[in-house]
Amino acid sequence: MTRSGTTVILSPSEVGRAAEILRCGGLVVFPTETVYGLGANAFDATACAGIFAAKQRPADNPLIVHLAGVSQLPLVARQAVPLARVLLQRFAPGPFTIILPRSQAIPDIVTAGLDGVALRIPSNQVARALLAHCEFPVAAPSANRSGRPSPTDFEAAFAHMNGRVDAIVRGPDCEIGLESTIVRLNGSYVEVLREGAVTREMLSEALQGRATLLEAHQGTAVAPDQPPPAPGTRYRHYQPHARLLAVEAAEAATALQQHRDAGTAFLVLRRGEPYGLPLTDTAVFTFDSVEHYARELYRCLRACDQRGCTTIIAELPPNDGVGRALRDRLLRAAG
Ligand code: AMP
Ligand code: MG
Repeated sequence: MTRSGTTVILSPSEVGRAAEILRCGGLVVFPTETVYGLGANAFDATACAGIFAAKQRPADNPLIVHLAGVSQLPLVARQAVPLARVLLQRFAPGPFTIILPRSQAIPDIVTAGLDGVALRIPSNQVARALLAHCEFPVAAPSANRSGRPSPTDFEAAFAHMNGRVDAIVRGPDCEIGLESTIVRLNGSYVEVLREGAVTREMLSEALQGRATLLEAHQGTAVAPDQPPPAPGTRYRHYQPHARLLAVEAAEAATALQQHRDAGTAFLVLRRGEPYGLPLTDTAVFTFDSVEHYARELYRCLRACDQRGCTTIIAELPPNDGVGRALRDRLLRAAG
């Protein structure tokens, strides 16, 4: 499909048309429960090259392939060991990605030449309806320009991708707001390559001692000359234009006192006027729960950039449950 620079906006009832565009080699942005995805037919190497161009994504950062259901596994994976089936049974459909040995039908460009392919079955109704119309798997990274926060609503997806893709399916805001949990199986080990809404606690419970869960590389900066723990992790991620300071709850009041000016925004995990400080000049975003914070994070970062904020002070949540994923994104956004 030739890209004319014109992007069609489709409603959720028009997913059949979106599937047709994908079938013809086009690019379609669509909502999922995690973030908006930028999709192409995963069997079509040329279409997938279009994803890298639209996102300006480095070629060694592989794509997650989305399936309508486990029945499509044989199309994309050579094998799914019993442990993989246990995890898929428990967490699919949902914000869960698993890396399995790829089938020959998956082109090199999708996995950046790796033997494993990352697979996810999303639960969002619009995504499911779209995938159900496709008889092929859909490669879909987040629909943002590389390095920037992922879009979690139509407006953000439109701002990133209008004019760069053939269509955008206008769906609801994303329910989770953080990218999927990614796991890789290695014998009797389950490596968490990226934290997400499927938490370590949930994974441990599902594994019931069948395998050992390995630490994720949470928020660690990887030196450019060392192999990254997972492809893509050495790149800048999730970064707003404003400088973001990620601070522990105990340090938030001090950080705020140092940056009390009109250009500062404050992201805080509690209700009401925080810390008894006069915050009249500061844009304050408060969240009722870690899940709420996760859902709103990228939207807040975008809102801060739109207001021209120069500094964002973001309180780090406790290091458990979804808090681990949120801390990971905040620490990476802080650079
Ligand atoms: P995104 O689709 O933008 O959320 O990014 C997908 C991320 O998934 C990449 O940056 C990698 O870290 C990881 N990933 C995708 N495919 C693979 C793979 N085949 N092996 C290991 N990690 C992968
Ligand atoms: Mg991404």
